[in-house]
Amino acid sequence: MPLKPLQNHIAGTWADAERHELLDVENPATREVLAHVPLSTSAEVDRAVAAARGAFAAWSTTPVSRRCELMFRFVELLRANIEELTRLVTQENGKSLPDSRAEVKRALENAEVACGMAVLQQGDKLIGAAADIDGEVLRMPLGPFGMIAPFNFPLMVPFWFFPYALAAGNTYVVKPSEQAPLGMHRVAELIEAAGFPPGVFNVVHGDKRAAERLLEHPDIRGISFVGTSRVCRIVAARCAETNKRFQALGSAKNHLVAMPDAKMDDMIRNMITSCYGCAGQRCMASSAIVAVGEDTYGRVTERFVEASKNVLVADPLDPAVADEPMVMGPVISEKSRQFIHDMIQTGIDEGAKLLLDGRAISVAGCAEGHFVGPTVFADVKPGMKIHETEIFGPVVVLLKADSLDEAIAIINNHQYGNGASIYTQNGHYARRFKLETGAGMIGINVGIPAPVASLPFGGMRNSLFADTKGQGKAAVDFFTEAKIVTERYWPEG
Ligand code: NAD
Repeated sequence: MPLKPLQNHIAGTWADAERHELLDVENPATREVLAHVPLSTSAEVDRAVAAARGAFAAWSTTPVSRRCELMFRFVELLRANIEELTRLVTQENGKSLPDSRAEVKRALENAEVACGMAVLQQGDKLIGAAADIDGEVLRMPLGPFGMIAPFNFPLMVPFWFFPYALAAGNTYVVKPSEQAPLGMHRVAELIEAAGFPPGVFNVVHGDKRAAERLLEHPDIRGISFVGTSRVCRIVAARCAETNKRFQALGSAKNHLVAMPDAKMDDMIRNMITSCYGCAGQRCMASSAIVAVGEDTYGRVTERFVEASKNVLVADPLDPAVADEPMVMGPVISEKSRQFIHDMIQTGIDEGAKLLLDGRAISVAGCAEGHFVGPTVFADVKPGMKIHETEIFGPVVVLLKADSLDEAIAIINNHQYGNGASIYTQNGHYARRFKLETGAGMIGINVGIPAPVASLPFGGMRNSLFADTKGQGKAAVDFFTEAKIVTERYWPEG
């Protein structure tokens, strides 16, 4: 049976997109076409924004207890559908089932945290700010917000934002990634089933043209963007022009520092998960290992390459690998695979030592899939393109530092500062690392230091273009505007 194009969800109804320019959504392991995604027009974005604007007055004045009641219902529906959502994410993105399940659960966790909005949205009051005068801070919702999502956590990333936006009384328009739109599509069905009023949450499918319309639309009060830093810059500039709030979370090159006293077996196991989970396509994936001291560098190099050779590369939906603890699936597209291959060639040309080459990998039954095997370069120096660039695939570069100072300097001089971790049993090293390292999210013996939903998520330098981060209270700040009231009542008579 031919696949029907995905529909947009606008003002509580599902509508065919008007322009029939379609993209195939493929399973990147098998190239099976899963759906066709419409590239919506500006007019359709405008309709979604109009729906969000129309719904704002009633939604923002709906008591927070009622808004949270719907959010609780949504949480229950998400919980009941974890396995279905997990499979959808694996199908469209190619990550392993455990990785997709973790993604869905973190999404759920954000919706759960947003259920606490009756506490999170409380303002402050200062009695006696001056003689007979009190001061008060109200946290007000602003209006319609927009979200532009990446392919790598196609379901979870929007949850860093929209549950908080809705629970705080705003309305919403999401443009999912055109490469992996199915998870968010299903989420919109669950939002509808939870009973959110029409227009409060809208989904418009499309590519950068739909995103650009959201960015310029005068009725959108703020934008949450997650994707490459190249596009973050565009988002920041456009939002400044139209005086929108924005938060743009961008690219990364996350470093792992191995100290001489690290627990070697635990560290290598942890590094492998961090570097090769989701085929290296996590914004928190590590792709640069800095070993401190000649001896540590030698030992880490040998052990890491050996462990990399044992990573199982397979179709994550192959029943034969269902019980494997660590499966690495494909990267998202042929374009991405080609870029990774080109970067491996660049590394060779730059003089780095290729210890493991994943370019020739073949996966049984998946001749057309976009697979790249684990790839490791040694003798990498800061400034080489393979160190400077976010490759976003299973390519790991090994660097040597003579001291912790030098390791921290390598990280701090990098253009990106999303996550960074140290492996050590020494509290002094760990304390210095957490205080001196320029990355938004720091790990101590934790290779993927992605904070839980109640804590802020976001990087530094070119990994974040914004003042506010995602998740938890940071999201509440972004989705509410402080209004300050100064009040006085003269005595009677
Ligand atoms: P991308 O920048 O190619 O696309 C992201 C979204 O932006 C898509 O919805 C796309 O349609 C839209 N878009 C593309 N060009 C645009 C333009 N010119 N104007 C407006 N919108 C545009 O990113 P991607 O490849 O989907 O995602 C991977 C990237 O996201 C990586 O760089 C990764 O590090 C980053 N990421 C960062 C975080 C973080 O927390 N820092 C989290 C997840 C992903």
